[in-house]
Amino acid sequence: MSETSSSFKAKSAVKAADLEHRRKVNFNIGKYNTAVVAGKHQFSDLHLARERAKNLKWRALEMLDQHLEDFETNLTKRGGKVIWAVDAKQALEEVINICREKNCKTIVKSKSMVTEEIHLNDFLEKNGIESIETDLGEYIQQLDGEPPYHIVTPAMHKSKEDVAKLFYEKLHTQPNLTPEQLTLVARDKLRKKYLEAEVGITGANFIVADIGGIAITENEGNGRLSCAFPKTHIVIAGIEKVIPSITDLGLFWPLLATYGTGQRLTVYNTIVSGPRQPGETDGPEEMYVILLDNGRTNILANEKTRESLYCIRCGACLNACPVYKNIGGHTYNTAYSGPIGAVITPQLKKMDEWKHLSYASSLCGNCTEVCAVKINLHELLLENRHEAVEEGDAAWAEKLAWKVWKRASLSRKLMNMGSQKSKNWMVNKLFKGWTAHRGDLHFASKTFNEMWKERSSTQKQ
Ligand code: SF4
Repeated sequence: MSETSSSFKAKSAVKAADLEHRRKVNFNIGKYNTAVVAGKHQFSDLHLARERAKNLKWRALEMLDQHLEDFETNLTKRGGKVIWAVDAKQALEEVINICREKNCKTIVKSKSMVTEEIHLNDFLEKNGIESIETDLGEYIQQLDGEPPYHIVTPAMHKSKEDVAKLFYEKLHTQPNLTPEQLTLVARDKLRKKYLEAEVGITGANFIVADIGGIAITENEGNGRLSCAFPKTHIVIAGIEKVIPSITDLGLFWPLLATYGTGQRLTVYNTIVSGPRQPGETDGPEEMYVILLDNGRTNILANEKTRESLYCIRCGACLNACPVYKNIGGHTYNTAYSGPIGAVITPQLKKMDEWKHLSYASSLCGNCTEVCAVKINLHELLLENRHEAVEEGDAAWAEKLAWKVWKRASLSRKLMNMGSQKSKNWMVNKLFKGWTAHRGDLHFASKTFNEMWKERSSTQKQ
């Protein structure tokens, strides 16, 4: 068993027994569930909207190379610079090169899962650059030294009392501040940072090919400030974020808002298509867009799992997943958690090290049911399991157990051998670990042949 797998299992066991954690998460997901019902009313035909979105993402990914080149051409026309990064290392090197050129000491950063994926903040810190998270949830998590817990709601596992205590301990505020007061404290701290920062870093919810722009969706305005205040704006985005046209946002923005937070539309939706142009009064002097692969083309090459790239990171599948709700976001130990994380992480990283995530599912299909773009998540989890077995990533004991099971199941003679007791003993010992979280396997007291004979003799009488 890989180290990541054993650590995942150990953490899951602890978290699943933490009732206080479950209470907080259920409370926040409960609020989300109520809001989503209301948000969905804006669609006259929700099913069709989701189908269309899936279709658009399908088309975007089938012509990914073309769309990305169009994006580059169009952004470059307006003075933006596109950098292609094959992996995290290259993306980080490009960021640090830009920062050094700008003599950057401070960065303001908006929420971006791709920067979590490449561990940007740790890297910047090691290079002597202060990187401040400006989204309130991310700011709370950074203050607490924790990664985001959820792809949309980074501090979902914290109550307002937890946040007040954290601010009291780290920022020496009054204890027991209200959420409004806490927000004002954060706002006050962050404002100064916007003025200091030489560079702003954001992600992109969508890369819009036909206008050469990126679209950012948020509720606090911090993303917009991170783009516009510093002299240099760096965008880091996964290549799968591409959509063909600005007109597609008419569908994707409301869909993302509803499935992400239950809103009809998020408060701020910004399109940035280059640095400040002559005659414009605000915006950065320079804009760079780093298009990150980091394993995405491996997923693209795999026809079966390719549709996981359609994900718009709304987080709905996390909120619906019974496993996620019990074990929590941090247990996954990856940037992307929940069902979508369990699908893409083994594909983006190494199957043998991360395949355990694909087994952390009851396959109830709730994730597929709620997915904004109708990704067949539970089938992709099965596909990962299949791939792991095909690649020979299963443990030797597991392989042996299934070999013996198959051999015995295919032989009537072997199935008829031994008593119920001895067979029960054997399988429950053979499938080591099976009974740690499940009941024992029980054979019937009579074999099929015995029952058949009895039935035949009863019918003859
Ligand atoms: S897989 Fe679907 S439900 Fe999950 S985050 Fe992505 S778009 Fe949302």
